[in-house]
Amino acid sequence: MTLGMYLINSRLCKRRIGARLRMRCGARPNSPCGLKQWPAPHRILSPSPQKIGRLHSAINSTCKAGRMTAVFIDRDGTMGGGYDMEFPWMYAPYPGTREAFALLNSNGFFPIIFTNQSCIARGKDNGYDFAAEFREIGAYDWFICPHDAGDGCNCRKPKTGLLEQAQAKYGLDLSSCFVIGDRWSDMLAGGLCGCRLILVMTGRGQESLGIDRARWGGYSPDWVAPDILDAARWICRHKDNNTKPA
Ligand SMILES: [Zn+2]
Repeated sequence: MTLGMYLINSRLCKRRIGARLRMRCGARPNSPCGLKQWPAPHRILSPSPQKIGRLHSAINSTCKAGRMTAVFIDRDGTMGGGYDMEFPWMYAPYPGTREAFALLNSNGFFPIIFTNQSCIARGKDNGYDFAAEFREIGAYDWFICPHDAGDGCNCRKPKTGLLEQAQAKYGLDLSSCFVIGDRWSDMLAGGLCGCRLILVMTGRGQESLGIDRARWGGYSPDWVAPDILDAARWICRHKDNNTKPA
């Protein structure tokens, strides 16, 4: 049953929509990934926990069915910045970055930033507001590794922890998702998770194809793009090809 039919058929909803509607327009604090995909009806429902559970499982199965395709995007060297940045504010987006996010969003993709920020572990971030930056550029969500190389965490790329956190949060099918990055560590993390890989030639792209090519763990790029905007355009051209090529 679709959500629309559910609403029409539900006596509970008929009774509650109306006088109490205004009280029920706030987003539920425990809403799953689908809140933004099922906007108004989801916010006005306030039925039993069993009905909420059925609604959430319908949304999650939609995500698992591949409706939510995430594009994981590295920050430094991919979205902007310099070759080797010591501080997070030594950064400006490349000319095409904003358009790339807009293009992905308008084509139904979910651009999610995944980034190593060891500056946090080294105390060099000075409280930099990554969330404000990422929200402003048009990211749907972001996952940050705050550790340093010696911390032994499982989220610093090329480890797969950041992708796994996103997978767990949104019920993603990672084999239908994309990774855009400039470093071998982006390619290896994405490759280990079965994502489609797009290397950009900004940042450290050249050395990823050169001296760092042996560190990719045997994975190959699905596309090598001059920059993030070209990468976004390539993804949009392949939006109907929802499985990783053999
Ligand atoms: Zn980490």
